[in-house]
Amino acid sequence: MSNDIVGIDLGTTNSLIGVMEAGFPILLADAGGARLTPSVVHFLETGEPIVGAAAARMRPVDPRNTVYSAKRLIGLRGDDIPAEDLPNDYEILRQSGQALCIQIRNRLYAPEEISALVLAKLKRDAESALDRSVSRAVITVPAYFNDAQRSATKCAGEAAGFAVERIINEPTAAALAYGLDKLREKSRIAVYDLGGGTFDISILEMNEGLFQVLATSGNTRLGGDDIDAALVAHCNLPLPDWQKREIVIEAKHRLSTEDCVAIDVPFIEGKHLRYELTRAELEKLARPIVQRTRAHCLRAFADAKLKPTALDEVILVGGVTRMPLVRQFVAQLFGREPNTSQNPDEAVALGATIQAGILSGAVREVVLLDVTPLSLGIETFGGLMNVIIPRNSTIPIKAGEMFTTAVNNQRAMKLKILQGERELAADNWTLGRFEIEFEPAPKGVPRVGVQFEIDANGILHVLARDIRSGAEKIINLSSAVDVSDEAVEAMLADSLEHAFADMSERVWTETRLKSEEMLAAVTEAFAVAGEKLAPNEKRKIEEKAQAVREALQTHETGKLKAANAALDEATQELAALIVEQAMVVSGGKEKETLAPGTRNDE
Ligand code: AMP
Repeated sequence: MSNDIVGIDLGTTNSLIGVMEAGFPILLADAGGARLTPSVVHFLETGEPIVGAAAARMRPVDPRNTVYSAKRLIGLRGDDIPAEDLPNDYEILRQSGQALCIQIRNRLYAPEEISALVLAKLKRDAESALDRSVSRAVITVPAYFNDAQRSATKCAGEAAGFAVERIINEPTAAALAYGLDKLREKSRIAVYDLGGGTFDISILEMNEGLFQVLATSGNTRLGGDDIDAALVAHCNLPLPDWQKREIVIEAKHRLSTEDCVAIDVPFIEGKHLRYELTRAELEKLARPIVQRTRAHCLRAFADAKLKPTALDEVILVGGVTRMPLVRQFVAQLFGREPNTSQNPDEAVALGATIQAGILSGAVREVVLLDVTPLSLGIETFGGLMNVIIPRNSTIPIKAGEMFTTAVNNQRAMKLKILQGERELAADNWTLGRFEIEFEPAPKGVPRVGVQFEIDANGILHVLARDIRSGAEKIINLSSAVDVSDEAVEAMLADSLEHAFADMSERVWTETRLKSEEMLAAVTEAFAVAGEKLAPNEKRKIEEKAQAVREALQTHETGKLKAANAALDEATQELAALIVEQAMVVSGGKEKETLAPGTRNDE
């Protein structure tokens, strides 16, 4: 067996595979000489799968039994994706809380099984081309892919017979292919990737020999397909939709280098029809689609805290960036001509191959670092999101925090692992839940350390440890398809849209928790030292406590804060009494005691 590691671009529409040969990355072709393998699987009546170009040819003929764009489904559950965003030519079972599933005749297939079939074909083709077996691979995924999508991609690789050495982000791979590791130290690079179905923008920094991703943004449903749909509607050819699509796509490609093309429709009602399509017409249709990438680019600049002028290089990835319109748009937005030195369709696969070469020792001196696309954390008291690893943190990363209980004699802590940018846990996505048990103790006494670790593949491992007993539990989110995920960009847009309301809700919740804590403390303090208090003092505290209870009903943060402060003020004497009493009980020795009010520090 060889020591090769192959690099694979597992694309929505097409996939490619490459290997380092004598120090150079080369992309491998199948027996027919094609380097692009359509990511399409057709199932014969016997259930036997056909993969690649032969399957793509079956798509118009037998669409119900031909699966394409499985990458859009991988690692998602029913509620993660609206029904209208799913491919609609073949049957997809979409149930709330369940992994999406493809039904072909009487058999169900997980999306990763389809990807595994595509990967297995790439493996066979590579082995024939190299005349040796290959068993290790680096596979690329969109920067947006969450933990479940990355894990499912890794599973697909394993099912195809690969040891998956790394899952890396597509834009990061592209930067390698453009040779940007050769740039001077501290270079900043934008990777503008507009493919068939997705758009990604990433800002990378080359720093002391390391590639670091400063920010990523994009849209998982924006790309060349939208331009094709607009063209099909515009051209109105007397042909079935699939045929019309094929014809206009070819015309679109030619219009990247020609100003005007003729579209020939042979033998309709005995006539031969000829249409003309100009680049200007295409650009009129494509412009609004391309302009939708602008907001994402601005968002990435804001996240990276950079101005476009601070960039040293802008590189293009994805077939659509061959269009002159896109190149002009990028040049204008970024204030510089993009680097077009590489073939944009092959850059990701080449970069994956170079990364594979780095891992196998065939290439040295470059290390890749990626970032988390969304914040990760756990739910805390009052249903708030407590961020442990913020969005855009460089991975691999390990971070942790200590938590305690809010209720006396609690025996266990339930941990809900969240991903997202919203202040309230319920608005974020739940990646998983588990429970850690411990000896019952007064509230605030148990200590549970929670550690999040994202490994080099972007896979999340969560560890919780009861500090007293040392007992620990780990959940490893690499194998289960249990991540609930909307498109990342929708989450970001929501977090911006609701930023003000979310923040007010967080402040309200925190104030409410404070009120509840104070009211409980007052009740306990009355039980311990109530009768020692002058009746008018006691009445004053009761009034203030009642005012807090009433303010709790209003959902007005300012009112509740004022009521909390007044109650805190009114309980000073009671607090002093309790401290005094505790000193007497413990014979003047220092002892932890129950204080009814804690200062309301604002
Ligand atoms: P990718 O996902 O990177 O393979 O990009 C595929 C998309 O690029 C499809 O929408 C193709 O139609 C489009 N594409 C490929 N070549 C060209 C070209 N020469 N001009 C315009 N669009 C192209």
